[in-house]
Amino acid sequence: MPTHQEIEVPGQGKIKIPTGLFINNEWVEPVKGETFDTVNPATGEKLISVAHASKEDVDLAVKAARKAFKTTWGGNVAGTERAAVLFKLADLIERDAEKIGALESLNSGKGVRIAREADVADTVACFRYYAGLADKVFGQTIDTFGSEKFVYTLHQPIGVCGQIIPWNYPLLMWAWKVAPAVAAGCTIVMKPSELTPLTALLLCDYAKEAGFPPGVLNTVPGLGATTGDAISRHLDIDKVAFTGSVITGRRISIAAAESNLKKVTLELGGKSPMLIFDSADVEEAADWTAMGIWFNSGQDCCASSRVYVQEAVYDKFLAALKKRAEACAIGQPSDEKTSFGPLISANQRDKVISYIESGKEQGARVVTGGQKWPQSNGGFWVEPTILADVKHGMKVVDEEIFGPVIVAASFKTEEEALELANNTTYGLAAAVFTNDARQMTRVSRALDAGTVWCNQYALLHAGVPFGGFKQSGIGRELGTYGIEAYTQVKAVQQNL
Ligand code: NAD
Repeated sequence: MPTHQEIEVPGQGKIKIPTGLFINNEWVEPVKGETFDTVNPATGEKLISVAHASKEDVDLAVKAARKAFKTTWGGNVAGTERAAVLFKLADLIERDAEKIGALESLNSGKGVRIAREADVADTVACFRYYAGLADKVFGQTIDTFGSEKFVYTLHQPIGVCGQIIPWNYPLLMWAWKVAPAVAAGCTIVMKPSELTPLTALLLCDYAKEAGFPPGVLNTVPGLGATTGDAISRHLDIDKVAFTGSVITGRRISIAAAESNLKKVTLELGGKSPMLIFDSADVEEAADWTAMGIWFNSGQDCCASSRVYVQEAVYDKFLAALKKRAEACAIGQPSDEKTSFGPLISANQRDKVISYIESGKEQGARVVTGGQKWPQSNGGFWVEPTILADVKHGMKVVDEEIFGPVIVAASFKTEEEALELANNTTYGLAAAVFTNDARQMTRVSRALDAGTVWCNQYALLHAGVPFGGFKQSGIGRELGTYGIEAYTQVKAVQQNL
């Protein structure tokens, strides 16, 4: 199979993109010559076929990553040098934001302006943030044993890291993984989602141009059950970092434990509650809630997918949210005006529709939406949907839908609101809308979630830690926690 192919990208014409495996800074064909197809979510048609990495290919990538870790990277380069290549990579991505954004939009279905102005821009910001941290990983000196002895700690890179990422933010999840790992001095075997591998492949050449030595970033596209499993079980991988569903997170944990007990960080799903108290500005709360659920067509791990509204403002809030649902800019990903694109696949669309049907059967009231978008043609759109008057025990309340469906119910007291919000196996994010500062503080402390937004929603920044309570994950990404997750602490005890 060819390692590069031409593809028509809206607004960019025909461009040549890599579709092979990237090992040791070279494009290579898979050992077994296997491929898989990616599909355009806006048309349902095949986009291009991509190399499918086998266990043998993963092994070659791990060997390259190990060699680089021992020789040209790891503890062998100064933090300032690691910073320099990360700053350069950020500049190169920024230079080609139009092209990268257009390819991201084509492969994932998100609106091209959003891909460029949010996904690409946040990717650049993430690389700059970790470039800034690369030479600021500090240990401690510990003066416990008196003047004859001296203890200090080193924060050393963990080693070769497997990274397995999902399809909802293909580029940004790539940045969240690659930037802190490389800043810490780790080397990488990256597996993008089989549904959206194209930008992760394109950016390998950018990493090479930025000065990543051979073997620092290796990329092995492929299916989860084969390529992903080979990474999770590999005996010479020291850590696996994963973003995706709870069920896959569990499988990866088991594979890691059964192989070499490699370290695991998991960023998993959510069913994030919004608590709207009657003192809140209802219009503002509706703006944030709408953004939280319909940005990326609801395919967001921290989507505002459950909303609980205090009785007195419940009807007013639902009316305000309905207005925003019906004003969503649904359209073709290549249209600059589109903010609401198709779901990623026919499977995902059918799953979302079947959740809506089950909600109706179990007694939810459809306030708006609930259908495939009438102008979908072959694409995978589902309308922005509000299901009201829901209760725990309904599948639409208890399970993550990962689509543009929000469920709503009313509450009477703060105590009841917290009871409803925390009654879930997830704990990724939550929000509180109130004008009472004491209530904001009390409720924020009581919510079981890795992030609590107050009178706002879904604002992410490379400097702010992100991750889950309960089954929403293990460990944290971003901020200083994000780079620490790629280091291990060594205590050196000297007898002087
Ligand atoms: P998924 O778990 O199906 O796939 C994620 C990745 O795991 C893909 O690259 C896939 O190929 C790989 N994979 C699948 N099976 C595997 C296996 N047995 N071993 C190793 N790798 C395997 O998830 P998805 O459907 O791509 O993404 C949607 C899910 O991700 C949602 O549940 C969402 O909530 C979650 N998510 C979480 C975050 C977060 O930061 N917490 C961010 C984005 C998405």
